[in-house]
Amino acid sequence: MIKVENLYKQFGETEVLKNISTRIEGGEVVSIIGPSGSGKSTLLRCINLLEVPTRGKVWVNNEDITDPKTNIMKVRQKIGMVFQHFYLFPHLTVLENLTYAPMKVKGETRELAEQKARELLARVGLKEKETAFPNNLSGGQKQRVAIARALAMEPELMLFDEPTSALDPEMVKEVLNVMKDLAQSGMTMAIVTHEMGFAREVADRVLFLDGGQLLEEGTPKEFFNNPRTNRAKDFLEKVL
Ligand code: ADP
Ligand code: MG
Repeated sequence: MIKVENLYKQFGETEVLKNISTRIEGGEVVSIIGPSGSGKSTLLRCINLLEVPTRGKVWVNNEDITDPKTNIMKVRQKIGMVFQHFYLFPHLTVLENLTYAPMKVKGETRELAEQKARELLARVGLKEKETAFPNNLSGGQKQRVAIARALAMEPELMLFDEPTSALDPEMVKEVLNVMKDLAQSGMTMAIVTHEMGFAREVADRVLFLDGGQLLEEGTPKEFFNNPRTNRAKDFLEKVL
């Protein structure tokens, strides 16, 4: 579903991603982990072209999204993204947050969009919140709405950038559980996370980034039980 080939990203003089090559198969759940500043967010953002790679190629569903001729808005419609800070529309109700893009971008009727939105809200455990405004929700509820809103566009791929890092500890689990359900439903997912327990349990594969390099790539078992590089060993000693 995603192929990244010899990807480099520079901000001015700083090389933030150095020769990253990897792929994510359909239905696969990949956790991207590594120290702060290692390039995790930049890698994720290169996959939907929120950042334009300096060099290298990214394919999404066999489409070269780094080719200037590609219609990136169309590619992005297939990719849901969830951020640390939810970015809900504050002036819209929960239901309207979910129906806005499907109606505006996909031209869905209000009836259909609302029906699907209600199903999604039930799925993330927020059926009773459809008329609430984001400011009246807890952080965990906001993030679940953000996930449901992304799913409302019926993406083929979901990208998560530290979705639980801004949450109070007691709310982390409700969000991780929604993500776990999504993973089990067969969604293709790339997740930047510091939740090592989640990565170990839910991910099919772990990517370890340090200093802009992809230093390790393997199953959670391989990575957590037998990290090959000293950098990964040091990192795991600090976070586990
Ligand atoms: P991570 O998500 O692993 O913490 P990031 O991908 O956010 O790392 O950042 C990697 C490096 O790139 C950091 O040194 C950061 O300061 C730098 N960086 C990220 N975005 C920009 C930007 N828009 N302009 C300049 N430097 C940036
Ligand atoms: Mg980041």
